[in-house]
Amino acid sequence: MKSYAYGFPRIGANREYKQAIEGYWQGNVSAKEMKDKLDELQQGMLLTYEKYVDFFPVGEMTLYDHVFDTACMVGLYKAENVDRYYDYCRGKNTLKMTKWFNTNYHYLVPNFSGRQYADLQLQWNKAREYKEKFGKGLPYLLGPFTFLKLSEGFGRKNWEEFLMSLGEVYKKALESLGEVHIDEPAFVTDVTGEEVAAAKKVYHLLASSGCQINLFTYYDGVDFLKELYDFPVKAIGLDFVHGNENLTFIEKHGFPEEKILIAGVVDGRNVWRTDIRKTVGMLQELLKKAKRIAASNAGPLYHLPLTVKGENLPQGLLDQLAFAEERLYELQLIAKFNGGKEIPEWRVASKFGTDEAVRARVSQLNESDFKKAVPYHERIERQKELLKLPAFPATTIGSFPQTAELRKKRADFRAGRISEDDYKKFIKQNISDLVKLQEELGLDVLVHGEFERTDMVEFFAEKMDGIATTKNGWIISYGTRGYRPPVIYGDVSRPEPMTLEEITFAQSLTNKPVKGMLTGCITIIAWSFVREDVPESEVAYQIGSCLRDEVKDYEIAGIKIVQVDEPAIREKAPIKKRNWDKYFDWAIKSFNLTTNTSPQTQIHTHMCYSDFSEIINQIVQMDFDVISIEAARSKGEIIESFAQVDFARQMGIGVWDVHSPVVPSTNDMAEIVQRVLRVMPGKNVWINPDCGLKTRQWEETLLALKNLSNLSRHLRLKVE
Ligand code: GLN
Ligand code: ZN
Repeated sequence: MKSYAYGFPRIGANREYKQAIEGYWQGNVSAKEMKDKLDELQQGMLLTYEKYVDFFPVGEMTLYDHVFDTACMVGLYKAENVDRYYDYCRGKNTLKMTKWFNTNYHYLVPNFSGRQYADLQLQWNKAREYKEKFGKGLPYLLGPFTFLKLSEGFGRKNWEEFLMSLGEVYKKALESLGEVHIDEPAFVTDVTGEEVAAAKKVYHLLASSGCQINLFTYYDGVDFLKELYDFPVKAIGLDFVHGNENLTFIEKHGFPEEKILIAGVVDGRNVWRTDIRKTVGMLQELLKKAKRIAASNAGPLYHLPLTVKGENLPQGLLDQLAFAEERLYELQLIAKFNGGKEIPEWRVASKFGTDEAVRARVSQLNESDFKKAVPYHERIERQKELLKLPAFPATTIGSFPQTAELRKKRADFRAGRISEDDYKKFIKQNISDLVKLQEELGLDVLVHGEFERTDMVEFFAEKMDGIATTKNGWIISYGTRGYRPPVIYGDVSRPEPMTLEEITFAQSLTNKPVKGMLTGCITIIAWSFVREDVPESEVAYQIGSCLRDEVKDYEIAGIKIVQVDEPAIREKAPIKKRNWDKYFDWAIKSFNLTTNTSPQTQIHTHMCYSDFSEIINQIVQMDFDVISIEAARSKGEIIESFAQVDFARQMGIGVWDVHSPVVPSTNDMAEIVQRVLRVMPGKNVWINPDCGLKTRQWEETLLALKNLSNLSRHLRLKVE
């Protein structure tokens, strides 16, 4: 059997990708040196593919983002040189960023507004450039249907015309290429019959270039397989790990004789080793239906770290894991499998990390654990009495700028160059400076600043049993930004309080309330690799129980407000709406479990840049007291989603878009609040930035928070 792999991580064994590009941004690396480095990384990817599999793409490398590259290819943006290119990524023309399907990769959103069909022209034949430069691999393209699906700025009426105009551009690009690799992950979303017909039309246009197309879908099953079989392509890639329906359909209806089935059988989204024998068995069954099959990965491999080699993980865990390079090895094993009984080199270590006490605790949870005894309107009265906050309280979302000095101290501590004592002293100094600063600024509810946290998930993962963290398991979340997803391998427990020391220290310095700051279980799960031997709900309730203990510890220590962040709640939702109920059931329950403590404790939540309009009915089932929302970009328009469900709880209005380098004036901020006040009583309104300030500079932070605090005082004057 042949093998075909794609989506290998571009990050490099030692994050050379990041170093080269950021080095260029900082002026330490020339444009040529940076490009040479990226070429070297592309070459490395090709050599790695070649070592294990038969077929693979070329041109998956990018200066920042492959969706933006596609926008440049079709002439939507003109990036004559790298500086113009980066202007769109992080400079004066920065495009909006959003999550790529149900993953934590963020792409730059192409915007068609103001464009005519004729503006779409082949401006950059990136695929050909890579083919010529490297001389091997199938030129990689993001398909026109997915590209348009991910874009914005056109109406329902003209999307089909845009699709066909894109088709013309693609056709030109394909003319000289012979054979290509095209990704169409949007084929697994909920598509309409109209869209399927248009997609088919555009693929006929592409095929008229004479180029052979290997078409890839992934992340879920394709609902219109029957129609897809008629697309004029050479091969169809299907996900058999996350798309059960694909298999069922083929078993029932077969597979077109003239096409190649590229069977995605090794997981691109999770890290557990593949059962080679079982997989081969499944492929053999498939061979009865499809004549030619190539074994492949299910989903691009860049959602996995590069390799498990060099990781120092709990005994026995390493033998359960496969990262990107190990997935290639698995494909090689599968392709070469000769029917023998044993695969000694790929034995899977047996599971460990079972904790009966944790299991028992979760199994005993009942209705009353998931549902608060005291309803919101009673809770809020008790809280008001206790907190005595002024009208329009001003607060922040948690983190404050993490300076180079802070990052260096952390690195020094981790490398053993400074003692734990010195590091803790340093953190405490930062906390006390921040408490003072927030008092001076006139904020009403303070935070400790999260200086001790690198990543909001990794920080908690390090403190809980049953979760491992990696040394070098980086994956890209956007641009050059990486994170290391922890691995949840066993039953999760909390050996001791995780955040109490910093929060209570901050509270000891002030009479104003300090918010305890927790990452919620949905987000911890979404940004980790999760065990598959128990249901996700079970993992969520285990973590939720740990967090609930943390909240109870806060209460004993006199903390009156707790914020539980769930920025990943929307992203983690399944791609197909029909699977939402099952997910939201445990997601909502896990949040309510976490926050089901004393009714006096005011529970805040923050969901970051989630699209609220889509999930508003689920959000209102989460029993928080205050939600902070991102409102600056929409100038407060987002409130409409909440108005529609008669939202009657308190809300923090994000009046400062922290992803923009612009510092808004008090007036700018006031406009947003005015919009909100048209549908929401002032007594329920808080004032805060859109999100945490971790990536901001101190200078702009001070200016913006001064304006923000002014606004809240100003609004207060009017009601008092
Ligand atoms: N409390 C976190 C912070 O301020 C929230 C981060 C987030 O929403 N992604 O950094
Ligand atoms: Zn946020």
